[in-house]
This record gives sequence, structure tokens and C-alpha cells, in this order.
Amino acid sequence: MKIQKRSWAEPYKMKMVELLRMTTKAQRIKAIKEAGYNTFLLKSDDVYIDLLTDSGTNAMSDRQWSAFMLGDEAYAGSKSFFHMEDAIKENYGYKYIVPTHQGRGAENILSKVLIKKGDIIPGNMYFTTTRLHQELAGGKFYDIIIDEAHDPTNEHPFKGNVDLNKLDVLVKKYGAKRIPYVSIATNVNMAGGQPISMDNLKKLRAYTKKQGIRIIHDMTRVAENAYFIQQREKGYERISIKKIVKEICFYTDGATMSAKKDALVNIGGFMATNEWDVFEEARNLVVVYEGLHTYGGLAGRDMEAIAVGINESLDDHHQHARVGQVEYLGQKLQSYGIPIVKPIGGHGIFVDAKAFLPHLTQDEFPAQALAAEIFIDSGVRTMERGIVSAGRKANGENYYPKLELVRFTIPRRVYTQAHMDVVAESAAAVFERRENIKGLKLIYEPKYLRFFQARFEKK
Ligand SMILES: *Cc1c(COP(=O)(O)O)cnc(C)c1O
Repeated sequence: MKIQKRSWAEPYKMKMVELLRMTTKAQRIKAIKEAGYNTFLLKSDDVYIDLLTDSGTNAMSDRQWSAFMLGDEAYAGSKSFFHMEDAIKENYGYKYIVPTHQGRGAENILSKVLIKKGDIIPGNMYFTTTRLHQELAGGKFYDIIIDEAHDPTNEHPFKGNVDLNKLDVLVKKYGAKRIPYVSIATNVNMAGGQPISMDNLKKLRAYTKKQGIRIIHDMTRVAENAYFIQQREKGYERISIKKIVKEICFYTDGATMSAKKDALVNIGGFMATNEWDVFEEARNLVVVYEGLHTYGGLAGRDMEAIAVGINESLDDHHQHARVGQVEYLGQKLQSYGIPIVKPIGGHGIFVDAKAFLPHLTQDEFPAQALAAEIFIDSGVRTMERGIVSAGRKANGENYYPKLELVRFTIPRRVYTQAHMDVVAESAAAVFERRENIKGLKLIYEPKYLRFFQARFEKK
């Protein structure tokens, strides 16, 4: 018999564990009702396996924890800032760095510096906080991702790619002067953790260079994107993730980063730019919104942990195990016939709630309802990525996104394969009784980023 060797087991072992509270179904029904059927409003003590997000929920390594103890908590000129700055410059290649408390802090500052009222921001699919900051700064976001990205069944290997024709239409219509930058996310979150190819990025660079338009890189998941390039793109099979990441960054002019994802920490972020003028202005603004330009809302220890985390995130074995675990869950869900976005993405599985609950209209919030049902079944917490997350347009109308998804996001280095089995079996149990699942109605809606705090009732 030929033995197939499993090649992605975790390149680490445990030396501390966090105990979980086990709950009964009756307790969970009460908890989700009290949370207004919004998994964001659950108390984490009521959650067994928390797949709400991969943001800030990663397990830090022994090296990161020991770096914590070396944090320099000086108000100004902390040496921890310079450690973080060195790690960013060395691994990503950007010239000037402004630390922020997390990704949206960087988005706020960058948008304020680069966007004027009436500007157009093309991007490879929107992200909630990114688009909101662009809009608050007076810009308007246009989606220029390839059509395949909006089709959950399409198996295109690089669904994060830009459709250059869509960009060209915008440039011809509005003129390059009204486009301060193209907003490019690596491993596009809202498309299901789908990568952009190096080839596409190179072509985009050539086009934008000719037009004099910047590329700003939302590099929150750049290492996971690099892993897919290594696995799928010709010519990159033998190139390390570290090198691929640096090449991706090289084709862009600046970046915003939520270090809470790829960089394996619980809090932190930064803005990066290669332009001195942009840096100067951002460095002035950061003092207003975040903190001094050498800490930007972070403690010295946070910056130390980011410096170590960036290096760990670029390790090939780490990414193989990370994405391998996501793939494991995705394949298991598929084996039960559960419709998911394909190909399987980098940071989570996105279940297609429209296909799962075809008897519900989008106004009955199928993804929101499904996330609540899965919680009731097993205490597994997932989140809605559909009409609730998409929010409303400036004129008050709902956005109706094509995708109505429930996101099972996997924190890095936190859960075991047995946990993944529990998750898949729970989703399968809900799938079996899907016809009896009712929709929801909205009873409270906050003005901004409504998905965080909206409340619902069963129909
Ligand atoms: C999380 C995230 C952000 C925002 O970062 P925060 O740290 O949550 O403020 C921006 N872009 C993408 C793609 C993200 O996933």
C-alpha cells in the first residue's frame, strides 16, 4: 500500500491551553435571542468554537510573548517602534511607516491624505471599513474585480484579479486625475479569501504607471495570497513566500495593514508609503487620531509582537498548515453537500447562504439566519457576509450584494482538526433541516457598519 503523507501538520506544539465553557442547546437559544440573532452581539463565554473572525484572534508564539516583555513603553522614540519599522521595511520593502492601532486607523489616515471630494476609488471588491473611510473622505468606490469573483461556483484560481477593462472604462470616463489610487486587496476578504495573481498585478502596475495612478495595497492577508501564488502560478512553485510577498509589495506604492490577521497579533496595524509628501501628511494626522508617530495607538510590546509575527507569517510551513486547515474544513463541508465558495480561500470557508436556504429572499437575511442556526446547534460562532454587511448607499437604499455568505473564519494556530470536525458536523446537521429555517426581520439598525450592532427577530 502506498502511504499518502500528510504534509501540512502544524509546525508548532502547545504549551498552554485556554479552557472553554460547554453549553446546552437551551442556553444557546436564550443567548442568541438576547443577542438579537446577531453573532457579533453574543458573549464569547457562550461560544464554544469561535469562527467569527480571524482578526486579532490568533495565538501568539512563545517568541512573540517573550518579545512582549522587551516592549519599550517610552512615549516617544520607543525602540520597539524601530524594531517594527525594520521588520516592515525588510519584509515588505515600503519606505515610510506610520503605526496605527489597527487597519481602519491606517485607512482613515490614508483616505484623508489621498482622497479629495468627488474622487473615484476603483478596487478589487469593497471591504467594509476600507470603503467607508473612502466615502467619509469624499470619494466613491467602484468595484473592478473580475466578474468571476461574484460567482461563488466559479473555480477561477485568482478570483481577486482586477478586470483591467473595467478600470479603463473608469479612467476614460472620469480621467486619471480624479483617481488618486487603485485600491488593491491581497487575498480579497469579501470574495472569500481569494488571491490576485502576480501576472495580473504586474499588468495593473504597467497600466497605472502609464496613467500616473497609484496602487494602494490592503496587505492585511498578503502572506496568504503569496501562498496561493506559490501553489498556483506558473514560475513561482519554488519561490519562497517571503520573496513573493516582497515582489507583491514592490508593484504597489503604499499600503494599509491590519496586523491582526496575517501578522499573528491581537492588535495593531500601520500605513506605509513610498512617497515622502504622503508620509509627512500622514505623520501629522496620526497624532490627531491615533497617537504619536512612533506608537500610533499601540503599546511598545504590541509593536515588538508585530515585528516577530511578521517574520513568522512569512514561513512556508506556517502558511501551508494555516491554509491546509482551512482546506480541510472546506472539503469536509463539501463532502456533506454544503454549498461553499470555490476555490476554497485562505482564511475561512464561505458558505453560500442563498443556495443553502433558497426559500428565503435576500430581504429575509438568509446568511444572518443561518449563522444564528449554526450557533444554536453547536455553539460555533460564524458571521454574516451579505446584505447586512453591505449596508446602505448614501441615498439610504440597501446595497444588494450578489453574494450572501456565512463566513467560517479560522483563527491562526488556535483550533485543532477535531474542532474542525465538530464545525463541519454541526453545519451538516443544520443543512439536514434547512427547509424549516425561517428568515429574520431587522428591528434595530445603527447608522455605520450596521452588521456589528444590528438586532433581529425571527419572522
Ligand atoms: C480587517 C480588515 C481591515 C480592517 O482592519 P481592522 O484591523 O479590523 O481595523 C481592512 N481590510 C481588510 C481586507 C481586512 O480584512
